[in-house]
Amino acid sequence: MTGRTHLIVSTGVTMSVMQLIGQGVTLPGFAVALISSLLPDIDEPNSLLLQKTVPNSLILKLKWLLAAIGVGWTVYAYLQSFFLPYSYGIGILLIAICLANHRLFRQLLMAALGGLLLYLGADGGPWLASVGALLMVCSVLPHRGLTHSIYGILIWGGLLYAASVQLAIPLWIAGAVSYTLHLLCDMLTKHGIQPIPPFKWKLRIPMMSTGKFSGFLVENVCITLTLVLLWNAFVTPLGSQVRAIWDSLWFQFGGM
Ligand SMILES: [Zn+2]
Repeated sequence: MTGRTHLIVSTGVTMSVMQLIGQGVTLPGFAVALISSLLPDIDEPNSLLLQKTVPNSLILKLKWLLAAIGVGWTVYAYLQSFFLPYSYGIGILLIAICLANHRLFRQLLMAALGGLLLYLGADGGPWLASVGALLMVCSVLPHRGLTHSIYGILIWGGLLYAASVQLAIPLWIAGAVSYTLHLLCDMLTKHGIQPIPPFKWKLRIPMMSTGKFSGFLVENVCITLTLVLLWNAFVTPLGSQVRAIWDSLWFQFGGM
């Protein structure tokens, strides 16, 4: 399923559910639902979320920067006889990383960022550390591994619950619902999901393949159903409110 479909369906259905159960829609809740709709695919280096946060143009710039650092490092090591020959190894490694394809480079970048957060987390509290650890784990896991399981829902829900308590804003319901909806949508694909790894048992109702006609069809049906639900949750009540106001006005003034 494409990132666009996940974004619309998970966020749309979550907002409708929040409205219908009387939780209401808040801007932070909306933002969390939006991120949670794409978050499970963070272990897919070419996913929509990562393409938006780390676009290809930025990757290219980072590669050039890293290559320049690699060359500079090697030259410096040569001139200063700095930790030779190990320094040459580091220089060559830095340049070699730039030759990796964008996908692998994103993965390495994610692992590096995770490591950095983990390091900063030593002083910055458990938050940075857990996000860092999560990023590092996700960067090496196969796609639809941990993130597409019950554990993924529990970890993300738990993190959001802690944040909700700390910030005194109820965020976790929107986040957990949106995240779960992403997994439910992925259940409709040929690959399905593995809810409790390492058990190989899969949950799937194979109706579609992403990029095929079946994908186009199923994804658009899901989007349409989401729009219907949104209409029911937000527009229909508005209509009856307007009607109630109109009726009361009519009752007050219409009878004159
Ligand atoms: Zn997914």
